[in-house]
Amino acid sequence: MNTKIRTRFAPSPTGFVHIGSLRTALFSFLFARHNNGAHILRVEDTDQSRKVEGALENLLRVMKTVGVEFDEGFYLIDDGGVGLPTDLSPEVLTKGEASAKVGERGEFAPYLQSKRLALYQKHAKELVEKGHAYYCFCSKERLDELHKEQIALKKPSMYDRLCRNLSDDEVKDKLAEFSLANKNPVIRQAIPLEGETVIHDLIYGEITYEHKILDDQVILKSDGFPTYHLAVVVDDHYMKITHVIRGEEWIPSTPKHLLLYKFFGWEPTEFAHLPLILNPDKSKLSKRQGDVAIEDFLKHGYLPEALINFVAFLGWNPKNEKEIFSMDELIADFDLAKVNKAGAVFDDNKLDWFNSQYIKKMSPDELAEKLKPFWQQANIDAKNYSNAYLAAIAELEQERLKKLSEIGERTGYFFKTTDYGPDLLVWKKSDKAKTKAVLSDLFGLLDKFNETDFKKESLETKIKKFIVEKKYDNGSALWPLRVALTGLTSSPGPFEVASVLALGLGKKEVLERIKAALAKLD
Ligand code: GLU
Repeated sequence: MNTKIRTRFAPSPTGFVHIGSLRTALFSFLFARHNNGAHILRVEDTDQSRKVEGALENLLRVMKTVGVEFDEGFYLIDDGGVGLPTDLSPEVLTKGEASAKVGERGEFAPYLQSKRLALYQKHAKELVEKGHAYYCFCSKERLDELHKEQIALKKPSMYDRLCRNLSDDEVKDKLAEFSLANKNPVIRQAIPLEGETVIHDLIYGEITYEHKILDDQVILKSDGFPTYHLAVVVDDHYMKITHVIRGEEWIPSTPKHLLLYKFFGWEPTEFAHLPLILNPDKSKLSKRQGDVAIEDFLKHGYLPEALINFVAFLGWNPKNEKEIFSMDELIADFDLAKVNKAGAVFDDNKLDWFNSQYIKKMSPDELAEKLKPFWQQANIDAKNYSNAYLAAIAELEQERLKKLSEIGERTGYFFKTTDYGPDLLVWKKSDKAKTKAVLSDLFGLLDKFNETDFKKESLETKIKKFIVEKKYDNGSALWPLRVALTGLTSSPGPFEVASVLALGLGKKEVLERIKAALAKLD
């Protein structure tokens, strides 16, 4: 029987979810689902000083919005674990950081590293006993000094292994001394002095690390917390993870992890490191909030589906022409063999393109529904207007809209008249007197129309016929009409705008706006 595929997303709860972390979570989710495996959410909070309150709940909300699911680990209680296809019920939980908002479930709980300290301590000690780790009693001052010297000599900053060479008796004495002073030594991994470790990465292939360049890094700190390296290996082993999928910045840590697996006598997981995400100028994508926070993208009106589609293409592609993928299609097509090694460029224009594709695919009603909060954000009380009106406005902008947050600025004139100067009404090849004459003629014409004439096609036919009869030209007639209705230099054409305005606010609104324009010209 084949082993069940198990992947994990293992964030540190240090802040917002950025593009890079979403990409990692998405790829491990897609890989798990594609293989009918399980996706686990483990929280790596070994650095307590960097912990941010509410980060886990926030992460769960973002993941829920974009549709990345977890079968084990944490879930949102108000959600009841919905969308988490698993037979484990929420009752099996709460060994870890369960709170009013976040629950925990799964047979390997707790999934929060700070709740698993005893396990790491046990294994650190086991390594000491086997000679693959050792106590280090060096003071911070000594280590700082060493670090400075190495920098001055342009040498890599590594521990000089002073404590690795202590005799058993010396260790015993030092331990007693520390214990009297109520202090704990740290434990360091004893990297073999010779030889090499080869990573067989599913994306990068074989990567060889000579042991002599690896540092004897701390695996257990003096406060009893493990460092990342120990915790990640112990947890991936006990949580039966089969595939570790993470950013390529973790490649240099992987030989240390492989050595830990070897010393524990455990079968290592498979590793797949994902390529860097780059700015268009090929520099490394910054993690500054606002630049890459998923929440900010959502706030700016990028649709979750478009974001996922875009993020999926950061390093992966189906090796064919197809670009638009739903989550289900991504699950069906996802393959680590189609992930590139080369850095993936984060291109804003591409994101806008994906977003506009998803905007175009919606029905006007659906789009209007999604636009409501964005109108609200622009101080437009959309709920005071009919859904038919909102959908007609949405439809008018649907082809042009790149993100939903543009809607207030683009369509404000449908809700409030805009203030503009009389000069804007005058077409460049016309003058004030002529503009006034045209507008008052148009007023007379439209005044006679009944409500059904206010359909775009019928307005267009009748007004164009009228322009010909009156020997006006299109520019001098249609420009002021459009400005009278919108107050803007650029907008959709006058027939569309008039028909939508009449639909939502009645023929009288159209006439009033023309009247107001005429008053400006007096
Ligand atoms: N806690 C690490 C992070 O914050 C996880 C790295 C890994 O997946 O091994 O990225």
